[in-house]
Amino acid sequence: MNAPLPVEVLKQHLIDPEICIRCNTCEETCPVDAITHDSNNYVVDPEICNGCMACVPPCPTGSIDNWRLVVRAEAYSVQDQLGWEELPGEKVLPADTAAEPVLLAPADASVPGVAAAPVASGASVPPWSAAHPYVNLYTHKTPVTATVVGNYRVTGADTESDIHHIVLDFGEQPFPVLEGQSIGILPPGTDAQGRPHYARQYSLASPRDGERAGYNNLSLTVKRVTQDHGGAAAHGVCSNYLCDLARNDTVQVIGPFGHTFLMPNHPRANLIMICTGTGSAPMRAMTERSRRLLGTGDIGKLMLFFGARTERELPYFGPLMKLPRDFIDINLALSREAGQPKRYVQDLIRERAADVRDLLADRNTCIYVCGLKGMEVGVLDALQDVVVQSGKDWSILHEALRREGRLHFETY
Ligand code: FAD
Repeated sequence: MNAPLPVEVLKQHLIDPEICIRCNTCEETCPVDAITHDSNNYVVDPEICNGCMACVPPCPTGSIDNWRLVVRAEAYSVQDQLGWEELPGEKVLPADTAAEPVLLAPADASVPGVAAAPVASGASVPPWSAAHPYVNLYTHKTPVTATVVGNYRVTGADTESDIHHIVLDFGEQPFPVLEGQSIGILPPGTDAQGRPHYARQYSLASPRDGERAGYNNLSLTVKRVTQDHGGAAAHGVCSNYLCDLARNDTVQVIGPFGHTFLMPNHPRANLIMICTGTGSAPMRAMTERSRRLLGTGDIGKLMLFFGARTERELPYFGPLMKLPRDFIDINLALSREAGQPKRYVQDLIRERAADVRDLLADRNTCIYVCGLKGMEVGVLDALQDVVVQSGKDWSILHEALRREGRLHFETY
């Protein structure tokens, strides 16, 4: 008589509902559409997930990186996961399980029906000298209360683009941050299904030691959303809530988030910063960090490519233009300025090819791209052109930039 087959064990991919901030990044990243959500949770379908890991590095919280050994026939279904408020503990497996758990199908295009994980354009590691970030100190269940100590518009009053600079103070409560990190805001109220609104993420616009140096505060750059991505009228829940806050109002905050889009900490590191609109927030944070170190001899070169429709729609235009030109090399790309040809950040990168190339050749240079979804492709094409023009191989340099944590994207 044949011995019974051992019970097959699955290493099941799960998302921690207590930490997940419902930002949709994982669902957008998954190459096989294994991730779905309802108004409660983001979940992974065990019938589809192939364990390719493409969703793990982009997740801002790490909530995506959870695994449980389960008997395959008893894997947690999508329905089970949608109802969870917290992750279940480890199950006790039967004694007759297979020796090796199955991590679903390998992420290999050679396996029929299984797509290979896409290669990310940016790095999944921080620069080697980045300071160590704190993440997930405050969650949905344990948010921290911050007080609004400033809220004013930083774009021309006569423009459609209503962008606010908002300063939040944490008082005595610890909220350690680094430039390039983001925080989550829990807007009050409920959605159409009566569930609390999910958190929205906002990049820090201030450096690690505070909007005002030595104070336990930070700033955000928030664009009031009045239209959806297709241009139809829409009322953005969180951005309108934030832009309408008054001094002394309080806000529920979670985070901080982000462990890769961080600035290098070693002396004379160079920064190439490429942004549009509110993508300027992390660039402001990094620039201000560098400005506060002026005079130490530790500052490398700063090169900024900043895109907007017009000067008046460019957040922080006034203060930016007051910065010394020998401290930061500012390149403004305006796409709708009267009497000027349309220019986008990628046009200026090509125009400044020689300087960009010199900086790229220096291993102390890190590149940060932040702003509209879709700008990634244009920027990568421009960087490629700049490198290829000089007879170098872009694919080798691109891979080195990723491996060494020197090329970072944050688009939304
Ligand atoms: P929602 O109520 O969520 O959406 C309303 C409608 O507007 C929907 O149809 C939606 O599809 C559409 N929509 C959503 N966002 C936008 C948008 N940006 N432009 C046009 N239409 C939109 N935003 C900032 O303003 N400043 C930041 O520094 C910032 N940093 C971010 C960092 C990260 C890592 C991520 C993932 C996002 C960041 N965002 C930032 C975007 C922010 O999290 C919100 O998505 C944005 O404020 C819209 O939220 P809402 O609640 O107002 O709109």
